[in-house]
Amino acid sequence: MTRAAVYLPPDRRGCSEGRNGSEGRGGPGRLGEAELDVLEVGSAHVVLPEATIRDERGGALFTGGGPGGGLVFDPSAGGGPLAGAAADRAARAFGVVNVAFHTQRALRYVNGLLGHPLPRLMVRIGMHEQSRRWSGGHYRLPGQGVGADPDAASPAGEVHLGGGAGFAATSDTDRYFLAPAHNSAIVCHEVGHHVCRHTADLRLNRLRPPGQQTNKKTALDEGTADVITAMLLGTPDIYGWHRHRIPQTEQRRRKLDPRWTMAHFRGGPHSDPHADGTVWASACWSARQRVTNTGVDPTRFDTLLLRGLELAGRDNPAGLIGDALRERRHFSRLMAAMAQADPVLAPHVVAAMSEHGIHLGISNNDLSRAARANPSRLVDAY
Ligand SMILES: [Zn+2]
Repeated sequence: MTRAAVYLPPDRRGCSEGRNGSEGRGGPGRLGEAELDVLEVGSAHVVLPEATIRDERGGALFTGGGPGGGLVFDPSAGGGPLAGAAADRAARAFGVVNVAFHTQRALRYVNGLLGHPLPRLMVRIGMHEQSRRWSGGHYRLPGQGVGADPDAASPAGEVHLGGGAGFAATSDTDRYFLAPAHNSAIVCHEVGHHVCRHTADLRLNRLRPPGQQTNKKTALDEGTADVITAMLLGTPDIYGWHRHRIPQTEQRRRKLDPRWTMAHFRGGPHSDPHADGTVWASACWSARQRVTNTGVDPTRFDTLLLRGLELAGRDNPAGLIGDALRERRHFSRLMAAMAQADPVLAPHVVAAMSEHGIHLGISNNDLSRAARANPSRLVDAY
C-alpha cells in the first residue's frame, strides 16, 4: 500500500446537503490521504491491479517521488496554463493519483458486489489536446460510427480525460482550473460506463468484433453511470462543484432529484442522453432512498442495481437485430431485472420508480407520452 494525497469522497456525517465544501464554491473535494494499492509507478503512469492510469502529455511526473514521500502531491488549484511550470507538474501528478484512487475505489466496490472482477480499465489523461482544450471525459471502445475515437486501443474499454479548460471560482478572489482528473464525479461517471459495458452491455458490443464496437450511449447508460457516481460519492448532487452556477432546478445540473419524471424525457435521435438519463438516475436514487428508509443498508440496493445490470445483459439475442437493441434502451427492462435480482426489495423499487412515471413492460416513449398526458397522476403519487 502506498500513501496518496487525493480528494476524498464527501463526508456525509454532520454535513447538511449543499453546505459541504465539495458541493459549493469551496473546491473539488476534501483533500486528504488514502492508501492506494499500486503495482508499479512509472514516469507518468501508475499501474493498479484493476487499471492503468497514464498522463499522455509527455514529461516525467513521478521521478523522485512526491516531496512528502509516497504519492503525495499538491493539487495546486488544478494547475493549468496560467500556473507556473512546477505547479502545473504537481497538479498533473496529483491528477493521476486522484484518478487512480477513485478508479480503484469504484472498481473494488463494484467487483465486490458482483462477486467477480470486471476487465482491466485503461485511463488516459490529457487526451485530444491538439483539437481542443477539454474539461470533460468520455468512455471509448475501439470502433466505428458515432463517437468513434481512433485513439481508443483497448478492446475492454478506455476512459479518456481532457487536460482541463476554464476555471471555477472557489472564492471571490481564488479560482480552480477545471482539470477533469481532479473531479471525482467525472472519474466515477466514466468508470460507470465501463461497468455498464461489461454487465448490461446495452449496445450488445459483445456480439461485435472487438475492434468494431459502438460508442453510442443511450439514456439508460448515461443515467446508470450517474447513479453509480451518486452511490460512490454519497450525494445526489454529483456535479454540484463545477456546475454550482446552474440552478438545481435545471436538468443540466444533473442533480438526481424526485422532480425529474418521464414527463421530462425527450427521446429520439436529437435528444441529449445525459438529460434523459437524469430521469432514470433520479428514479434509481429515489428507490435507493426508499429502501434505506425502511432500515435496509444502502449497499443492498447497490447490489440489486449491479446484479440487475448483469441479469439484463445475460440473455442471448439471435443477433444485432433492431428489436434487441431497442429493448435495451427501455428503463422498464432494467427495472424488471433489478426487481428479479432482489424480490424482497422489488416492491419498494417498483413503487419509487412509478413516482417517476416508470412502469414495468412499457417503452420509454409510451411512458413519456403517458406522463405528459397526465402529469397530475405523478404528483398525486408523492
Ligand atoms: Zn457519460
